[in-house]
Amino acid sequence: MGEAERGEAAPRQNVTYFCSHEHRSVVTFSVEAVVPASWDCPRCGLPASLDCDNPPPAPKIEPYKTHLAYVKERRSDQEAADILDEALQTLRTKRKAGEIIF
Ligand SMILES: [Zn+2]
Repeated sequence: MGEAERGEAAPRQNVTYFCSHEHRSVVTFSVEAVVPASWDCPRCGLPASLDCDNPPPAPKIEPYKTHLAYVKERRSDQEAADILDEALQTLRTKRKAGEIIF
């Protein structure tokens, strides 16, 4: 009983952190502790900050995804070009056949 009372008597502060996924994490610090400006979100692992209106962007994952999306975009463009080329050749073949008939 004495120890529990001593623990509750220790002054604490609740600090709320916000990540870019709009997770709100309340972390309890001792009032004597230096509160860090950023904290890893316990739910998604992204860095979270004290400013709810301006959470830090995801630094490591987003650029990789953007690059991957860029590569996929280029690949699909190439596929689209191939499909268009194939369609044009089919059209030309049909047109030639039509010229023979008419
Ligand atoms: Zn989060």
